Amino acid sequence: MTTSNWGAIYKKMGAKPVVNATGSVTLLGGSTPAAEVKDAMDAADSAYIPLIELEQVAGDRIAEMLDVPAAYITSGAGSALTLATAAFMAGTDDDKIEQLPDTTGMPNEILIQKRQRYWYDRCLELAGAKLVEFGDENGTTQDDLRNAISDRTAAVHYVVYEQKPTDPHVLTLEQVIDITHEAGKPVSVDAAGQIYPLENFGKYVRMGADFQCIAAKYMGAPHSTGFALGTKKMIDAISRHSFVGYEGRRVRGIGRPQKIDRQEIVGVVAAVDRWLTLDHENRLSIAEGQSQEILRPLQGIPGVTVSLNTNTKGHQPYGAFVNVDPDIVGFTNEDLVQKLRDGDPSIWTRVPEGETRLELHVFGLSDGQADLVGKAIAAAVKGG
Ligand SMILES: *Cc1c(COP(=O)(O)O)cnc(C)c1O
Repeated sequence: MTTSNWGAIYKKMGAKPVVNATGSVTLLGGSTPAAEVKDAMDAADSAYIPLIELEQVAGDRIAEMLDVPAAYITSGAGSALTLATAAFMAGTDDDKIEQLPDTTGMPNEILIQKRQRYWYDRCLELAGAKLVEFGDENGTTQDDLRNAISDRTAAVHYVVYEQKPTDPHVLTLEQVIDITHEAGKPVSVDAAGQIYPLENFGKYVRMGADFQCIAAKYMGAPHSTGFALGTKKMIDAISRHSFVGYEGRRVRGIGRPQKIDRQEIVGVVAAVDRWLTLDHENRLSIAEGQSQEILRPLQGIPGVTVSLNTNTKGHQPYGAFVNVDPDIVGFTNEDLVQKLRDGDPSIWTRVPEGETRLELHVFGLSDGQADLVGKAIAAAVKGG
């Protein structure tokens, strides 16, 4: 809103740009690459390079920065999950790599705790694996896991959201690693957003997991990128299933449609480098300031309860909670989301699944937009 050409390129095409107060969500375009990342990507235009070699040096560089054995850049964390399941099932056997998604003769079960089923677990099925739940909605015991592991087990998957309260009814990652490794099977971790505090970045592989994914959309890399971290064996297998293996080794794996370009690979390395050297105190204080700016126009309005989200873990610190009382303001939180979306400019917010109030994030806001969002909510409420 600060510049008159805000969203102009979209308007010219006949589409309507929106103010993103939801945070880093793929349905709105996820994220905007940082300036340093764009510079690195531009510099990559000047020459071509065999991608097998580029992936190797880029992965080595990331592995070194994060103190993990190996890394591999992929088309998003979603692709890292799919390639990892392919690697768990077929390993480095070229015939099996070409046989997927037909898993005949391979272990093809990815075990997951019932209470950990989540939105992205679909990515674990794409290469032909089957998700098999253990435990139930009330929780999981260590014996549930021991009994679930069999010859058919390809891996045990675990999901980490350190920014959310710990679920006391699921096994801990330590327990899962112990039991699974004792049975001779590998552990897969989705830690896509666990990039802050910095000691959490890559921590799950350093704890002993065979693989974890990271979504680079969360750290100023192109939204379409991500990477796998893991043991050398695991990352070697992932590389063979990838689109680079398909073209470079002439072995036709399932990774072929999950392509990224050399500029993106260079961009991810620049983004990791930037993230590890960034002034995070400053990043957090800017986010806190923007969140306060959203809240300021909302103080003391009857029927509106607001509070500051003080979380700093993961990729999107701070933010604001907004809750309207329908008996006083005349409409629900869901109605408020719709009113903001219908406004001009259109402002996107949400009541996350399983929550009751609006959870706003400043991740996708540009200069001046925090104030605009706060004022738009105040106007919507006062307008009735
Ligand atoms: C965003 C996300 C993914 C998918 O990552 P992409 O890079 O968008 O493919 C997977 N898992 C979690 C927990 C995520 O937040």
